[in-house]
Order: sequence, then C-alpha cells, then structure tokens
Amino acid sequence: MSDATQSGSRSAAHPDLYAAPTWHQMATAAGLVNADGSIGETIFGQMTALAGRHDAINLGQGSPGDPTPDFLIDAATEAMRAGVNQYAPGQGHRVLIDAVAEQRRRCYGQEVSADEVLITIGATEGLSAAIVALVPRGSEVIVFEPFYDSYAAATALAGGKLRTVGLIEDGAGGFAPDWEAFERTIGPQTAAIIVNTPHNPTGLVFTAEMLTRIYQAAVDSDAWIFTDEVYEYLVFGDRQHVALASIVDDPSRVVSISSAGKSFNITGWKIGWTIAAPPVREAIQAVKQYFCFTGGAPFQPAVAAALNDHEDFAHTSARSLAARSEILVPAFEQLPGVRVSQPQGGYFTLVDFAGTTDEDAYALNERLTREFGFTGIPGPALCAAGTPVSEAFAQTIRYSFCKSEEETAEAARRVRAAAEELS
Ligand code: PMP
Repeated sequence: MSDATQSGSRSAAHPDLYAAPTWHQMATAAGLVNADGSIGETIFGQMTALAGRHDAINLGQGSPGDPTPDFLIDAATEAMRAGVNQYAPGQGHRVLIDAVAEQRRRCYGQEVSADEVLITIGATEGLSAAIVALVPRGSEVIVFEPFYDSYAAATALAGGKLRTVGLIEDGAGGFAPDWEAFERTIGPQTAAIIVNTPHNPTGLVFTAEMLTRIYQAAVDSDAWIFTDEVYEYLVFGDRQHVALASIVDDPSRVVSISSAGKSFNITGWKIGWTIAAPPVREAIQAVKQYFCFTGGAPFQPAVAAALNDHEDFAHTSARSLAARSEILVPAFEQLPGVRVSQPQGGYFTLVDFAGTTDEDAYALNERLTREFGFTGIPGPALCAAGTPVSEAFAQTIRYSFCKSEEETAEAARRVRAAAEELS
C-alpha cells in the first residue's frame, strides 16, 4: 500500500479503510493489488475488456458459449410460477439435497445422507465457508498451483497461510503433482489441502492413486481435505472422475464441493453443494448462513431435475468439449516452438510460449489479441506471486475451449493464421 493511498484514505470523509485490513489482505492474496496500492480488476475482467477493445475472441473466462438447455429454463420457470420465490431453507430445498445425495451414490458409490448436504451459492461459497469454518488462524492451507483464485482470498479471510505445491509437466503433455514439494510442504501446521479435480487450468484428472496419497498425508498431518469437483462431469475419453470421499474408508475429514454451473451451462445460476459429515456440515452452514443465508430458490428444483433426469446432457457436454479441445489444441500446436497441454478434462488448455519468444505472458497475450484476435489468461495470474511455479508459467497462457462451436472454430482459424505468419 502506498503513502498516497494511505493518506488518501486518511483525508477522506470516512473512517480509515485500512483500520480493517481484511479486505486488503484478501485482495492481496488474490493478486488484485496494484503497485500503487489500489485494487485492480480481476484478471478475468481485464482480459474480457482487452478482448472487447480489439474485437478478439475471448478464450479467457471459463463461461460456456453454448445455450442453457430448455429443460432447465422450463423447470426454473415452472418453479417460479409455482411460487418457489421466497427464501429457501438454510440447508437448501430438500428436493435438491436428495438429488445431490442420490447423484453421489449413483455416480461414485458414496453413501450420503440428507444431513450431510448443504446447498450453497455456487461452489465458491461452499469453499469459502468451509475454509472460514475449519481453518484455524495462523495455520496453513495447501493448494496445487496454478489454482482458482478464490482459495487464496478465502484463506486470507480465515487468517490462514496459503502454501502452494506445483503441478508439473509429466512429459506426456499432461501434469502431475510435484510430490517432493508436497512432502516438503505438508506437516502438523497444515490445516487443509484443497484438491481441484478435474483441474483448472491444467486439465489434470487426479487418479485414485494420487488422491489416496494426498488423503494418507492428510491423515498423517490431521488435516482436512476440501475437494473442488466443479468439472466432475467434464472428463474426456475413457477417463473417470474419482470422488476422493468415495475411495477412502472414513471420509469424515473430507469436504466434497461441487456445483451445476459448468456441467449444465448455468454458471450464472450459482447453485452449488457441499457434502460433509453432519457436525462438519453444521459448522460450514453456521458460516455460510451469514454470507448469504440462502439463494437461487427456484433454481434449486431445476438443478435437482437436471441431476435426477438429465445427466446425459452433462455427458454430451463432456464429449462436445473434448471435440472442441481437439480443434483448438492442434491449432495451437501449429505455432512454432510452443508446448501445448493435452487436457484430460475441464475447460482449458495451457500453451507455453517459452521456446518462441522472450515476451512475458501478459505482453504476449496483449500482442496476440491485437495482431491475431484471440485472448487468453496469462498463466502467472493463476499462481501466487513469486513462486517457482509462477516462474515456470511466466510465458504460459491459458485458453478455454468452452466457447460455442462457431467461436471455437473461428478461434482455431485465427490461431492457424498466426501460426502461418509466425513460422
Ligand atoms: N472452482 C473452479 C476450479 C473453477 O474454475 C470455478 C469457476 N471458474 C469455480 C470453482 C466456481 O464455481 P461456482 O461458479 O460454482 O462458484
């Protein structure tokens, strides 16, 4: 924070903003603080604006380009007309709680009772509430890097310390945890480990073996595990999403978190769920209910219908995303000297330009936007500042293939045009 900002806030006609430092600590943790101490726009907002200025295809933010299916619009409309427009119960509407429990049993063989399910405002609220409820001040939270930015902000809110463990290239176009770094980082000071699978942005689908190793380490250090499974349906080929809680003898230290946004093209509805042993669920709910109490009442029965009766839609989405990745990834591979990740699931591919240019990911992303009309998210923006992984991603850009078929095809055409010109 600069002197200018501090004195600016002191001379303002309101109390000192920095007397309550939490907001600034959260923004700092999420990498939003500018050199002069002011708060910047998120990288997703910045890159969307950049794409807009140059009429570029926005492959930055992971917001699906395909329309929301009619069955969901109809179900939500029906619920509104039937009067489901007032506060939902604190734990969520029973119809969705039951649908989530049934989905876990059907898909993963995980037995879940109704008192273990909490409906949340997207997965983000579940993650933040779990972190605030369960992470003691001063303790550590391990995340695999790069990572979804809300983990860092929520850990700062809880007064915890974020520790990152890299996902490193496995030599076959994919990624795997840096186990040495993991063993070095975990210990009695670790309060929780966050595992996002399928992973944004590497596309890694954690195997049962990887998850078991993480779970064993959590047991040894008496840590929680928070899973982030928002891409659970979006796995490619014959790979399977493995729900960590379903493969361990005693899942009581596991908090499983997911949402409907990515799988059913309804990211704006923000309907998510958290599954935890009853007293753990109650603790998380005690925090969650003072964030928002409840939300999205008429969307809850609609999402219940999606889980109960329309899972095939999510599986079809996975196949169509895989097909789009097979259009975009080979196009990027045409660029001279780049390394392109082969996603196993999710929305994203990573393109490492280190072999082709000295420019950093920010400058390069801006130039590719300006000259060739496609925009991504610079890799370091998805890392903590100054970590070895953020260095390793210094020239990497994340691109999404969740846009519409037409946009994806046009983006691939533009990438190939860039490849021709740069070859
Ligand atoms: N986790 C990950 C890994 C994500 O990529 C996102 C969305 N970008 C979320 C959580 C957010 O999920 P929701 O919209 O359900 O809060």
